[in-house]
Amino acid sequence: MDGNKLDRDKLDEDKLDWDKLARDLVEWRRDLHKYPESAWTEFRTSSVVAARLEKLGYALTTGLDTVELSAIMGRPSQPEIDAHIERAKRQGGDAGWIDRLRGYPGVVATLKTERPGPVVSIRFDMDCVDVDETELPDHRPNKEGFASVNELLMHACGHDAHTSMGLGVATVLMAKKNELRGEIRLIFQPGEEGCRGAYAMTQKGVVDGSDYFLAMHIGGGVPSGAFGLNSLGYLCTTKFDVEFTGRPAHAAGAPHEGHNALLAAATAALSLHGIAPHREGSMRVNVGVLNAGTGRNVIPGKAFMKAETRGQTQAIADYVYKRSQEILRGAAAMYETEVAVTKTGAGTDAAGDAPLVAKAGEAIRASGLFQKVLETVQGGGSEDATWMMRRVQEGGGQATYLALGSNIAAPHHNGCFDIDESSMLLGVKALVAIVDRLLQ
Ligand SMILES: [Zn+2]
Ligand SMILES: [Zn+2]
Repeated sequence: MDGNKLDRDKLDEDKLDWDKLARDLVEWRRDLHKYPESAWTEFRTSSVVAARLEKLGYALTTGLDTVELSAIMGRPSQPEIDAHIERAKRQGGDAGWIDRLRGYPGVVATLKTERPGPVVSIRFDMDCVDVDETELPDHRPNKEGFASVNELLMHACGHDAHTSMGLGVATVLMAKKNELRGEIRLIFQPGEEGCRGAYAMTQKGVVDGSDYFLAMHIGGGVPSGAFGLNSLGYLCTTKFDVEFTGRPAHAAGAPHEGHNALLAAATAALSLHGIAPHREGSMRVNVGVLNAGTGRNVIPGKAFMKAETRGQTQAIADYVYKRSQEILRGAAAMYETEVAVTKTGAGTDAAGDAPLVAKAGEAIRASGLFQKVLETVQGGGSEDATWMMRRVQEGGGQATYLALGSNIAAPHHNGCFDIDESSMLLGVKALVAIVDRLLQ
C-alpha cells in the first residue's frame, strides 16, 4: 500500500465516529452471523477480516503462514475444505483473500509503531458451533433477517461478536496510532470450538515475544454491564475420534465369524463413563457421538465414536485421558476388533497474571464503562486460548482472559442463543482502555 493511500484511509481519533462504529459492529456481527463457518473452514470470515484490516493499514500474515501444519488438530478432509472454500466465495467472501489463505483460515494483523514499547497481543476467535439455529419467529436473527443460512451451523457462542469487536479494536487503535508505542498484534483464530485452532497458531509462534496477551469472551453467564478481569477454571481437555474395525458376518448364518465393532464401541462408551474420579479435583468424560453398523442382519464391522476427556489440572486430565485409552484398547480386545484413535483437539489450563489483572482492573474502573467489575469469573468448559496464555507466560510475558458481560437469550451452543448487541461497543472500548493502560 502506498503512503498516500495510507494517509487517506487513516482515521483520526478525534474524528472517530463512535456512533458509526457502534452501527458497524452490529452490521459486521449480523453479516458474520448469517454466514457462520465452523472450525478450519472460516474462509469467508477470514477474507472479510483480512480485507478490512488491509484497508485500515495493518501488516497481515494469513492462512498457511499462521499455523504449524504438524500441530493442526481436527481439520476436515481436503474435499470438505474445497467445498467450504467454494461456499465462502459463493456467499460473498473476498475471492482474492480466500485464495491467499491457501486452504487455512486465520489472520494476524500487526501494527508496529516504531516507538519502543511492549508487544500486546489480543486473540479473537472466529468459528461457529455445529448446531441448527432455531426457527422460532421471535428469535431476533429470524425477526430481523440475519439468521444462519448454513444448515447445522450457527454462531451460538458469540464468536461473530468477537470477530466484529476485533475489527472494532483494529479501527480504533489505527486511529490512535500516533499516540501508541510498541507493537499491537491482533490474532483472528480459527477453530476455538473443540479446541482445534489455537495450538497450531501457538506452535507457529504467533504470540512469541508478547509482553501482554489478552483474550475475551462475551456472555458466559456474566450479565450486561459487568466485566470480568480474570476467567478461571477452564478445564484441560483432549478431544478424540475413535474407530473400531471388526469383521462383518451373517448375523444368523455365521455369527461366530464376526468381530462385533458395535459391541466393542458400546462397551467402551459405558466403561469410559465409569472412569474413577480423581481425588485432587474434577474431571469429565463424554462420548458425544456413536455410530455403528450397516444392516439389521449383519454383525457390525465398523463403529465410530467422538469423545472427550477433561480435568481440572493437566495432571488430572492426563490421568483421565490415559485411562480412556486403556479402556478403548481393552474393549477392542474383548471383541477381537482393532481400534484407532485420532486426537482432534486439546486445551490446557491457565490463570491470569496478577500484575496484568491489576492494570486491566485500573483501566476498566477508570473508564466507567461498567457498573460491576469482577476480579475473577468462573469460565465454563474449556478454551484453547490457554495455549497462547501459557506460551506467553513461559516466555516471561503476562496474560489474562477477560469476560465481557452480555445478557444472552439462551445458553451458549443452544439454537436460541443471542447476545445483547450493545455489549460489543463496550467490549471494544474496554480492550482499547486496557491497551492504553499497558502502553503507558
Ligand atoms: Zn463455544
Ligand atoms: Zn466461545
